[in-house]
Amino acid sequence: MIVEERVVSYIHSLDSGNGEFLDKLRFQAEEDKIPIIRQETEQLLKVLLRLKQPKHILEVGTAIGYSALVMAANVPEESKITTIEKYEKRIPLAYQNFQDAKMEDKITLLEGDAIEILKTLTPAYDFIFMDAAKGQYLNFFPEVMRLLENGGILVSDNVLQDGDIMESRYLVTRRNRTIHARMREYLYVLTHTPQLQTSVLPVGDGLSVSVKIGAKIKEKIK
Ligand code: SAH
Ligand code: MG
Repeated sequence: MIVEERVVSYIHSLDSGNGEFLDKLRFQAEEDKIPIIRQETEQLLKVLLRLKQPKHILEVGTAIGYSALVMAANVPEESKITTIEKYEKRIPLAYQNFQDAKMEDKITLLEGDAIEILKTLTPAYDFIFMDAAKGQYLNFFPEVMRLLENGGILVSDNVLQDGDIMESRYLVTRRNRTIHARMREYLYVLTHTPQLQTSVLPVGDGLSVSVKIGAKIKEKIK
């Protein structure tokens, strides 16, 4: 936990929920240990969606469709969501949830590895939610930049790995060490790409919010 547990609990206690269907789905996912967006992260995501009111949303990492459904409920009527998932066990559950929520017309699930699928997509998306394998964000990045339109928002979840990514060369396993190094590199790229304005927030498991700006706009005052 990055933020003190009692603070997070308090923030959770203020949550007014998402209605019966989604609240049940969150409960179920947490019971079944399916990784879904944290509550405080979800609150921020909803605010960003209301601000931006995106029409073409792309999600990398569907799991069972929880965050895709939250997004569907918080964007304009005509908005469309494309979401990518590669884990066969979760795909049928996601389809079922989209159907049960009567959102199957709004959400398109693409089955397979995002590294392949992203290449086949055509621009432009005005909101991209990156929430897949943490070690791969950097590999997805060139395609994500191609797909994101100017003014578009890129939200990346789990970027601070519970606050562990800066430290513990010796305390963490080799696998985590690699993931952490790759995530640090991803955050460096997000914060140093001239076309992006990025804020890294200690919300949930760490969340970064980037806006794609025209290259000329981000000139420093001399
Ligand atoms: N966004 C979901 C949670 C996603 S969990 C929610 O908040 O409800 C991350 C998911 O990304 C997992 O289900 C995992 O199978 C999937 N994933 C990881 N790497 C992927 C890849 N390369 N391509 C497609 N899906 C991937
Ligand atoms: Mg996540």
